[in-house]
Amino acid sequence: MEQTLVILKPSTIGRRLIGKIIERIENRGLIICGIKMMQLDEPILREHYAHLVDKPFFPSILKSMTATPVIVMCLKGVDVVEVFRTMTGATNGRKAAPGTLRGDFCMSGQENIIHASDSVENAQIEIKRFFRPEEIFDYTPSNLNFFYGADELK
Ligand code: ADP
Repeated sequence: MEQTLVILKPSTIGRRLIGKIIERIENRGLIICGIKMMQLDEPILREHYAHLVDKPFFPSILKSMTATPVIVMCLKGVDVVEVFRTMTGATNGRKAAPGTLRGDFCMSGQENIIHASDSVENAQIEIKRFFRPEEIFDYTPSNLNFFYGADELK
């Protein structure tokens, strides 16, 4: 089954929204197969946001993403990368659709509460960036038949 990498950003931790976001993830039927708190630093953020390091707002991203520890998660599900990007919503919270996590919980383009991998390929790179192999638990919940039809799990 596909995996994706999620970061609950300092805006989630600072606003004490951790439980609400995780509740939405579990309600949707996504499986948490890795979860931990960690303090990000400049080297890992330069790697993670390599596509943004030359932007004028990159110093602001660094400050924002190191303001508190974050929670990183590996989620598992059928088509989970696309499903969770859709759940996340547009980058700018003010433009994110109601019903999405950003659309329901934030008003900012920077303080937009979560990161979600944008492709299956990047998800695998990002999971390896934030987790050691032994920190990922690839278990299968016993009630998966209530979340998916048998044909969807092949
Ligand atoms: P996404 O997180 O939706 O995949 P990007 O990869 O484009 O979006 O940007 C990464 C993160 O950088 C955003 O989630 C946001 O926190 C921050 N960011 C993006 N654009 C801006 C901006 N113009 N000003 C401040 N922060 C920004």
